Amino acid sequence: MNTKNLGVNTICTHIGEVKDEQFKGAVSPIFPSSSYAYEGVDVKRYPRYFNTPNQEALSKKIAMLEKTEAGLIFGSGMAAVSTTMLAFLHAGDHVVLQKTLYGGTYNFVVEEFDKFGIEYDFTEGFSETDFTSKIKENTKVIFVETPSNPLMVVTDLEMISKIAKNRNIVTMIDNTFASPINQNPADFGIDIMIHSATKYMGGHSDICAGAVAASEEHITKIWNIAKNLGGSLSDYTVWLLERSIKTMKLRVKAQSRNAKKLAKWLQKHDMVKKVYYPGLKNHPEYHLAKKQMKGYSGMLSFELKEGLSASKFMKSLQLIKESMSLAGVESTILSPAKTSHALLSAEERKRQGISDGLLRFSVGIEEKKDLIADLEQAFENISEKELEKK
Ligand SMILES: *Cc1c(COP(=O)(O)O)cnc(C)c1O
Repeated sequence: MNTKNLGVNTICTHIGEVKDEQFKGAVSPIFPSSSYAYEGVDVKRYPRYFNTPNQEALSKKIAMLEKTEAGLIFGSGMAAVSTTMLAFLHAGDHVVLQKTLYGGTYNFVVEEFDKFGIEYDFTEGFSETDFTSKIKENTKVIFVETPSNPLMVVTDLEMISKIAKNRNIVTMIDNTFASPINQNPADFGIDIMIHSATKYMGGHSDICAGAVAASEEHITKIWNIAKNLGGSLSDYTVWLLERSIKTMKLRVKAQSRNAKKLAKWLQKHDMVKKVYYPGLKNHPEYHLAKKQMKGYSGMLSFELKEGLSASKFMKSLQLIKESMSLAGVESTILSPAKTSHALLSAEERKRQGISDGLLRFSVGIEEKKDLIADLEQAFENISEKELEKK
């Protein structure tokens, strides 16, 4: 079959299946063997070599979803991030990283890079000069994440790849928040796509995994160090991830649709100061988001009006769960000031625009009316509490 022009739902459902030749079952069998017969030096099959039947098959699905030649599945998003960066950065090299990155990625850079002799700079902002002004003779990698967490700032992917191509720099993106459903950075010339598959790819808040998609050449380079670092994923979880991705487009579309409607609803609410969602026309990068994204994702943030308590609001919610992670089919919410950004000083949080009233909302697939009813009763609950105080 010619797989070139398959639609996304078809790729999600069928690409990278392990055919059940024995019983003709409808789904991929699991091959949990950690020991395979010797078939020659080139075909040593072993889970830590990322080449069991299930691992190889799922890698094809990831690659096709990101429109690249090849892919690799990892034991976590951070295994994917760390292995990929270390594949391209050696002692004496320099990397330019976008200002706001996932906390784990930030920690990896500031806690580990000195040990390896890798130099790094974070940008001051998101513009072309913010990036070019940090580039040095020895810059080998530019690393971005868009939309970013938690303020949903959008970085211009075409701009990033243009800056890099002229200078022979490899570009990497953490594409977790958008997922391959809402954004394919390869279309804009980005070299390497990294995912925490714990989020939208898994989608049910029950597995931890990572994924990387890139050219055959880049994936080979990543594989060469991946087999030494050992961050592979168990075949049981590989299988669960394959099953989860079958419904990824259905889930992510529903989540993105809900998020857009809720963003509009929240924006009109008189107890909400501000909503951060790239799909809103008043988002500063709305036009850029429209150009490089196919949907605006299921993630949004909103800020309560001054004097309203974010923690009381969260405690008042009945359907929407307070939760550290994101992207599951169930809606979840958290306070960045109390969680991801809790270790920063109040001053630094303020500088980054993370107020105490800010809430990060991962929108699920529930019916919109039920989510609105839940938010509304929580708003009413905190406004009554505020009135009682007076
Ligand atoms: C969760 C997350 C990661 C890390 O993934 P793990 O699977 O937890 O290791 C990286 N980037 C982003 C944007 C994330 O949300």
